[in-house]
Amino acid sequence: MNKRLITVTTVATVSKILNFSCVDGPGNRLVIFLQGCNYRCKNCHNPHTIGVCDHCGDCVSHCPANALSIRQNGSGKSQVIWEQALCTHCDTCLNVCPKQSNPKTQRYTVEEMLAVVRKNSLFITGVTVTGGEATLQLNFITELFTQIKADPALNHLTCMIDSNGSLNETGWLKVMPVLDGAMIDLKAWQEETHLWITGRDNHRVFKTLNLLAEQQKLHEVRLLHIPSVTDFQAEIDDLADYLSQLPISTQVRLNAFQHHGVTGEALEWPVCTKEEIETLAQQLEKRGVKNVVRPAVVFS
Ligand code: SF4
Ligand code: SF4
Repeated sequence: MNKRLITVTTVATVSKILNFSCVDGPGNRLVIFLQGCNYRCKNCHNPHTIGVCDHCGDCVSHCPANALSIRQNGSGKSQVIWEQALCTHCDTCLNVCPKQSNPKTQRYTVEEMLAVVRKNSLFITGVTVTGGEATLQLNFITELFTQIKADPALNHLTCMIDSNGSLNETGWLKVMPVLDGAMIDLKAWQEETHLWITGRDNHRVFKTLNLLAEQQKLHEVRLLHIPSVTDFQAEIDDLADYLSQLPISTQVRLNAFQHHGVTGEALEWPVCTKEEIETLAQQLEKRGVKNVVRPAVVFS
């Protein structure tokens, strides 16, 4: 019997690529934003990265620059086409999309993304994959990081994931051999608070934090402080006990809630002031948490 060799190309849906960032992991990093998220955070500051476009076409007629059109692809399915050269980045399409998506996402094969990494490799120390929730496209990440590690011209780059921590243990173990570190959000201490803010409980997040800590790959835990909403201060003793037993190399990064990009009820929540973030930092440090990192800028 003849055997046919089938090559499966791993492709990702990408909402944005930043060629240079110094806030998404250590050093200077190329940051790849993958589209789609499994959380529904009330305070999401990038809500158009949550849904995956189903090419319904609802946004097309709203584009004031005629940068969007709808066509049939080879298999007869409707497809929204975005013409980058015409786009004025007014964000109208993002605001009218009923699925919290974006018609400007691009599909990249691993090879195409490697070309982007190669082009930038002299100017960066590593690559961070974020989202949305990056780990929803785990096969792409694993293959991309594997190729980076296998290429002598690229293997000096560190490969990191920025995640909400919802990936299961099997998934983390799959990417672990080619992962240098991860930044994980802890959005609330209590399960109920986490569920209310994100739509999901946090038991997977703690499993993720524990696994990455055990493997010495937990680069950073991120706490977004929303004074009247998150429960970090109400649970300060338990929170500090937990954070202080993490590896000394793990940073505890505090972020201060602001309204930028936020929609819906979270716009009614008060922002976090510089004094409030400093109070939380000192409460943690007083209880023995090392490596607390304050936000570089608090706007209020
Ligand atoms: S971006 Fe939203 S509105 Fe536009 S085609 Fe996709 S799903 Fe429909
Ligand atoms: S962001 Fe670009 S594609 Fe979207 S509505 Fe504005 S001009 Fe059109």
